[in-house]
Amino acid sequence: MNKVKSLYIHIPFCDSICDYCDFTKFLYNKKFAKDYLKTLKRELEHYSPFFVETIYVGGGTPTSLPADDLVELLEMIKEYSGNVKEYTFEANPENLTIEKLSILKKYGINRLSIGVQTTDDKISKLINRGHSFAQVKQAVDAARKIGFDNINVDLIIGLPNVSKSMFQRDLENVVSLGVNHISCYSLTVHPNTVFYNKNVPEPTPDFARELYDFAHEFLDKNGYIHYEISNWSKPGKMSMHNLTYWRNENYYGIGLGASGYLDNKRYKNISNIQKFGVPDFVDEMEEVNLNDLRTYQLLTNLRTIFGLDLDKFKKTFNEDLLETKKNEVYELIKEKLIVVEENKIKPTYEGMMVLDQILLKLI
Ligand code: SF4
Repeated sequence: MNKVKSLYIHIPFCDSICDYCDFTKFLYNKKFAKDYLKTLKRELEHYSPFFVETIYVGGGTPTSLPADDLVELLEMIKEYSGNVKEYTFEANPENLTIEKLSILKKYGINRLSIGVQTTDDKISKLINRGHSFAQVKQAVDAARKIGFDNINVDLIIGLPNVSKSMFQRDLENVVSLGVNHISCYSLTVHPNTVFYNKNVPEPTPDFARELYDFAHEFLDKNGYIHYEISNWSKPGKMSMHNLTYWRNENYYGIGLGASGYLDNKRYKNISNIQKFGVPDFVDEMEEVNLNDLRTYQLLTNLRTIFGLDLDKFKKTFNEDLLETKKNEVYELIKEKLIVVEENKIKPTYEGMMVLDQILLKLI
């Protein structure tokens, strides 16, 4: 098996359910959580993911677990975290207490990813988020006091009733927190969500683009590198874990509904909590042939400013992309969607915003 550097663990519990959310999640319930942690332990032991370099515990809201469950979870991960360089925990501001922060610190978590989504308290209520911006500030302050200096916050682009100036305020607010990583994802309205049932519209492509343009400029002025379509970081603070996905490298995905990629196979776990681990964990498995691998390589690598390494591509696929796609590459350069430098194809900002157009030509 190729060296597997990353481990994702899914904790599907939340304190409240947001109106736009289609992740695999449930309201926290003590009995469900205890049973779930036992099942998760079996899956962890099955993979025995020793020697990973990044661990990402996401959800759901992992910090919705009360302190005793949190300790149980972190104890089971402990034997696999000895080699870890980046250990991220997702959190919501309202349940990131001093007690939980201290537990996370004790077990070696060195990066927090806080779900903020909006800094406007009225909008926060409207989408059924359980926190105010004052609580976000408190959570970030508390995290710093406990010794966390690597913090990401998530925002959503295009929430209903959020004007351009309100989004600008969101960015100003999160920059004022001094966090070193910011993710901004454009709203997608999924079936089986409250937004979908209420016919909430997604932002128009033009409006979303206007907001991305603003974020791109504003965050650049404030020292953040726009290194992936929806992600910005201070120098040296890019998400190592997510870079595994964007380099199209192998990772373990553990927990309800989690996805993984091991040994040329992509898998998706069962999402039904009653069926999860009785006895199977995996729901779907897809063999990745060379042609699919080529597609994934382009799809993932071209999302970031690091782009696609042409030497590596040639070694893997026995294909010189500058020869086989000579005309297309030339057109894309002329349209200022890519640049070719250091033997890499790198998307420009414009290119990242219209990635599909690049992929259509190169796949
Ligand atoms: S807290 Fe996160 S996972 Fe939970 S409902 Fe809200 S968006 Fe979904």
